[in-house]
Amino acid sequence: MVTRPGPLVDTFGREHRDLRISVTDRCNFRCTYCMPEEGLAWVARHDVLTFEEIERVARVCVERFGFDSIRLTGGEPTVRAHLDVLVAKLATLGVDLAMTTNGSALRAQARGLREAGLDRLNISLDSLRAERFAALTRRDELAGVLDGIDAALEAGFHPVKLNVVCMEGVNDDEVLDFASFGRARGVEVRFIEFMPLDADHAWSAVQVVPGERIVAAIDAVYPLRPVARGSDPAEIFEYLDGGGRVGAITSVTAPFCARCDRVRLTAEGKVRNCLFSLDETDLRSVLRGGGDDDDLAGALTSCVAAKGRGHQIGSVTFVQPPRTMSQIGG
Ligand code: SAM
Ligand code: SF4
Repeated sequence: MVTRPGPLVDTFGREHRDLRISVTDRCNFRCTYCMPEEGLAWVARHDVLTFEEIERVARVCVERFGFDSIRLTGGEPTVRAHLDVLVAKLATLGVDLAMTTNGSALRAQARGLREAGLDRLNISLDSLRAERFAALTRRDELAGVLDGIDAALEAGFHPVKLNVVCMEGVNDDEVLDFASFGRARGVEVRFIEFMPLDADHAWSAVQVVPGERIVAAIDAVYPLRPVARGSDPAEIFEYLDGGGRVGAITSVTAPFCARCDRVRLTAEGKVRNCLFSLDETDLRSVLRGGGDDDDLAGALTSCVAAKGRGHQIGSVTFVQPPRTMSQIGG
């Protein structure tokens, strides 16, 4: 199938420009809302896409379809050996290149990744209290992650954004601590609503802290004003006193599906048109079966053509995907 260069548009008119690449499904943490304590059945190493295969898919997305941003994620992307080599390859595509990480390896890797061409970093951190952090991640690594945030800033990443999954009765009492932390450190904190992509399928709506409530709590102490929203899934606010920005990603209570421009590539080469989709398109068989760039473009086009209007969280028809966030690439 030959596809013409031009945007990758779905049947609802959404143009897709953002590629999320999971470079590994493995992780050195075991966040309770993402992975079981014993880990998961990891994808066999020979089934994980090589850097050359990832670069090929990314090149088709950029050169054929005009994608303008790529984000590396996982699992934990920094556990993939020689990640800077992949970053250097992708940097030649000339698009915005970002990564989401748990931050634990940044003291060792931030400078090298920056030098290789990584533009932006999101670091995940759900508690500023050592004991709670250890319970949530099943790793006693808070100090290492805080040092990783410093290392990212020292390496010149700006802005550094902090992802905080806020859960009722778990860490919702730390909203103001995170706001103060972000203001003091010059990092943009983004509170994410807990989504039904947990390993033990124990998610329930009562654990979701609505973004609106978080923003109101911060606004009462540090007054805020909204910032105009582009394709960013987060609602962003500015502190009136110049203390920087803070955001909320309301994937459950006010989803951004109508503006979604994302395509996801899993570590083993499946393309997904939605975090919550139950179907995937296999690109690895195209890559390893002698397919050319037209074949890859055709597979991507079919995948996006099948994209639904939006996820159905909260409705009786919603079915949680069998994969966890770590297996999809959040
Ligand atoms: N390991 C890296 C990290 O933690 O930043 C990258 C992968 S992780 C799957 C990407 C993001 O998804 C993290 O910010 C994490 O907190 C978030 N996440 C994982 N499971 C989630 C869930 N069930 N609901 C909401 N966010 C989740
Ligand atoms: Fe690992 Fe990130 Fe999942 Fe935590 S959220 S278990 S750090 S992949």
